[in-house]
Amino acid sequence: MKKTLRYNYRLKPTAEQEAKLIEFGSYARGLWNLLLSENMRRYRYDKTFLFYHEMAGLIRDLKKFEEFIWLKAFDSAASQQVARDLETALKNSFSKGRLQKFPTFKVTFKQKKLHDDSFRCVNNSNCIRIEKGNVSLPKIGKVPIVLHRKLVSKIKTATVQLKHGKWYISLTQEVECKSAKQVVSSLVGYDINSQHTVVGSDGRYEKNPKFLKKSAIQLKQIQVQLSRRNKGSKRWQKSKTRLNKLHGKISRQRLAFAHLLSFSIAKTSDIIVFEDLNVKGMQQFNGQMVNDNVMGLITNLTKYKAELNGAVYHEIGRFVKSSGICHECQHQHKFDLSVREFTCEACGVLQCRDLAAAKSVADTGEKDLMASGIVARALPKFQQKSPSKTKVFERSKFGVGSEKKEAAQFRFAEAP
Ligand SMILES: [Zn+2]
Repeated sequence: MKKTLRYNYRLKPTAEQEAKLIEFGSYARGLWNLLLSENMRRYRYDKTFLFYHEMAGLIRDLKKFEEFIWLKAFDSAASQQVARDLETALKNSFSKGRLQKFPTFKVTFKQKKLHDDSFRCVNNSNCIRIEKGNVSLPKIGKVPIVLHRKLVSKIKTATVQLKHGKWYISLTQEVECKSAKQVVSSLVGYDINSQHTVVGSDGRYEKNPKFLKKSAIQLKQIQVQLSRRNKGSKRWQKSKTRLNKLHGKISRQRLAFAHLLSFSIAKTSDIIVFEDLNVKGMQQFNGQMVNDNVMGLITNLTKYKAELNGAVYHEIGRFVKSSGICHECQHQHKFDLSVREFTCEACGVLQCRDLAAAKSVADTGEKDLMASGIVARALPKFQQKSPSKTKVFERSKFGVGSEKKEAAQFRFAEAP
């Protein structure tokens, strides 16, 4: 199985090239807004939207007009990508089951003060290539690139963007996944909470590094400085840039940490079970804490890394109770967030709240995977290792009847 992944690299454009990159970014934004307004006009008129090929045709036609001369300066493949993105955004906002909102207009540089425009080029007939520390981009030329890691395969697309005052290019490449592991031996469940980034059922505790909190004093200083300066002045701009840079630093620290942690999680266990976190809901409740804990990021990164390794990744249902369950006798307790340790009311075992939660996540994941037939592969391993494990499975809440049915369905699906 092949997977398309993005790899981000720093760009170090010259002043001349930077001006051109900014220009291209603004073209992409302008084109997006133009096509979106055209779509809205069309929808008001006859309740339909323009499809990609219609939008591409429109771009072709507009190039002939004097006012749209800038479209000629823009890379044509990149302009088609804008149309493609808009089509996807429109489709997503109308398809059921997805929660995407209707696409919005992109605001201009002046309104936002700090712009983060981006545009995407496609590698048609090898027009994007890396030679001698430079990446050649269509209609821009050879831009110096920091190649901190080797390319995996051929470049498919390249997205150039300005983030926190730095230029980045993300190159999409196709990566071959390792074949799915036939013998999956270790199943580890992970609990995510406010104190720790992850707690594994194998006893792994990963402390939350709290990067935002570490930079809190510095952040406050710059914010005070910013509030004292005249809005829009040169000195104000300087503070604004400093603030932006610091936010950039924090987000890069978080990303690096999340990558390292998810890499080691994906490497150490064959079956990885996570909770399905309602990150959006939690952000409303306590946004800063959730963001500082890279909650959503960890699960996303672990998922693709596990797939690359041929491991199994599973998320248990959002409403399955995991915390406050005794891992010895499954007795359920109720207590508030401050309780970190508890003694089971039924069997009297003293246990750590987070570890118990992780173990219950692992148990639920195991049941889920067995019921859906995904870990039918894991079954023989468990049988030879400990026969009691399969007994637990037979007596599970799914009942013998439904379990047989599930198994039959699975066999049915397997048969050619
Ligand atoms: Zn108990």
